[in-house]
Amino acid sequence: MKPDWSSVESETVSQLQAIIRYDTTNPPGNELPLARYIESALANAGIETTLLEPSKNRAQLIGRIRGSGTKRPVMLLAHMDVVGVERARWTYDPFAGEVVDGYLYGRGAIDDKGMLAANLMTMLLIKRMLVDSGVALARDVVFVATSDEEAGGEWGMGWLAKHHPDLLDAEYALNEGGRTRIIEGGRAYLAVQSAEKVSHVVTVTAQGSAGHAAIPLKDNAIYRLGRALEQLSRYAEPVVLTEITRKFFARLAEIWPNAIEKKAMLDLVSGKGAASDNGATVLSAIPVFNAVLRNGISPTVVSGGKQFNVIPDSAAAILNVRTLPGQSIDDVLGRMQAAVNVPGVALELTHRGDEAPASDPTSEMFNAIAETAQELDPKIAVVPYLSTGVTDSAHLRKLGVKAYGILPFPMVQSDEERMHGNDERVPLSSLYFGIRLIYGAISRIAQ
Ligand SMILES: [Zn+2]
Repeated sequence: MKPDWSSVESETVSQLQAIIRYDTTNPPGNELPLARYIESALANAGIETTLLEPSKNRAQLIGRIRGSGTKRPVMLLAHMDVVGVERARWTYDPFAGEVVDGYLYGRGAIDDKGMLAANLMTMLLIKRMLVDSGVALARDVVFVATSDEEAGGEWGMGWLAKHHPDLLDAEYALNEGGRTRIIEGGRAYLAVQSAEKVSHVVTVTAQGSAGHAAIPLKDNAIYRLGRALEQLSRYAEPVVLTEITRKFFARLAEIWPNAIEKKAMLDLVSGKGAASDNGATVLSAIPVFNAVLRNGISPTVVSGGKQFNVIPDSAAAILNVRTLPGQSIDDVLGRMQAAVNVPGVALELTHRGDEAPASDPTSEMFNAIAETAQELDPKIAVVPYLSTGVTDSAHLRKLGVKAYGILPFPMVQSDEERMHGNDERVPLSSLYFGIRLIYGAISRIAQ
């Protein structure tokens, strides 16, 4: 039986509006009232729920539709909190969920309340369309709504993974973290996040003689730090192609509108040494592509000195170093140390990120997403994607769950950039695509 899509569309809009009207700006989050609202929407439909309160006014909500258990569960994950707003710079009330000219406006419309609403609707549809009409599910479908994702997840996925890993048992999970991008010429690609970079911190410390600024010193720590950073600015980690980035560029090339970049993508994955190197050079000039081709180094904080007339005895810089899955941060640190040759300067790993394995880009779940997307848009390219940002999926991958990240709403870049910005909005047509994509993929994998 097929859902009555036009009534599902208006129900999805109403649900998203209701969800946006709960102000879950984090900090402080205050996700509990929203979790209670969703809990009653699920419970009213006869879906089993568990509400957990990790701390005051914070919540994790789990909903579960039971299958026969012949296969392990599939999870739908979204976070309930949102980042703050600069109210004065919004045209519409960020917590009203207004619909204007085919767009639904509100904080969280695309990150991540749009997906939260689509996940909720998917649960309701699976209950109504499948379970209530006697279709047997092979696996449980688990709905998970978390708190605190935008502040690192200590009271959200981090807390759940630590205290209730049993509730997160699943073979597959669908989360945020990818994108459905409409590019020049109107074609679209769906990037399914299957792995993410690991974020580490390296601190560069320069020592020198302290003294009065009236007597300049050659071993001034700030000059030393400057020279070390200058040397690092000329250093780049080598290009490493993983299974995911190889597939990403090969499939993206099929639809890429820019001829030079398209050729570079094909050259890169050709496996021919010189051509592959040339392709890598062209693509490395584009920051977002460069970031998936190699381990990345970004200085983010500098500190040193207190007063204009005192030479400090040390100065330091913090570098955020993001490694590709499977790359050793110790090896990266060794190469960075070798690239810096300034007396009195030391590089040290001050925070080691947790490594999580990649999710298989050829799995049944990946294929269910791809097949559903291609039914909805026969010209869409579905590519596995390595994200440079960090999501809750890393926790799940560490627990052995094959997690995939999508942003199920097709959008042009300028709309996608409103995420965390002003006048965040989702095009209604994209919201309708998103609910069809999630329901389609989950109903396929669940049976
Ligand atoms: Zn998010």
